[in-house]
Amino acid sequence: MRGLLIGRFQPFHLGHMYVIERIAEEVDEIVIAIGSAQKSHTLENPFTAGERLMMIFKSLQQNNVRRTWYVIPVNDIDNNSLWVSHIRSLTPPFHRVYSGNPLVKRLFREAGKDVATPPLYNRKEYSGSEIRRRMLAGEPWEELVPEAVVEVVREVDGVRRLRELAESDRA
Ligand code: ATP
Ligand code: MG
Repeated sequence: MRGLLIGRFQPFHLGHMYVIERIAEEVDEIVIAIGSAQKSHTLENPFTAGERLMMIFKSLQQNNVRRTWYVIPVNDIDNNSLWVSHIRSLTPPFHRVYSGNPLVKRLFREAGKDVATPPLYNRKEYSGSEIRRRMLAGEPWEELVPEAVVEVVREVDGVRRLRELAESDRA
């Protein structure tokens, strides 16, 4: 039994880690799809697919997730009715999809997939938007992500990248 989790993981945080630990109790293998893989260096999507892949890989390793996992970057296609086929063309076969996103759930249900909604875990703080906001504002964000993510963000100078992206070139 294989389960799929889809997200943008900008960045990967403790809410994602918690969901993966729940999924690991239910499935033998976990497929993690990194959505909007082609996007990076924007305020909404600061990190590249490769950087997000490192965050996920190192976090799962550090947390001793005792399951086989696959991490697969998936580019956007601007076509919702083809999107499930697009995902399936890139991932190992999976039986269940885990998502809280209404559009994602709808598209997979229409394609006949079993969809489960994982419970939200401290969603006010464990949220990509909140972590990016804190990085820009110079507030502490490190407590909201696995230690491995702190290391990756440091390695790629991610906070400075985000702050520079927020600067204006107007006088
Ligand atoms: P953003 O604010 O940038 O959208 P996000 O925190 O929602 O970031 P995503 O990559 O969009 O992160 O989320 C991927 C999946 O993880 C979604 O299905 C979402 O419902 C789930 N998820 C995100 N945060 C949590 C959380 N705190 N608890 C449980 N599930 C979460
Ligand atoms: Mg989201």
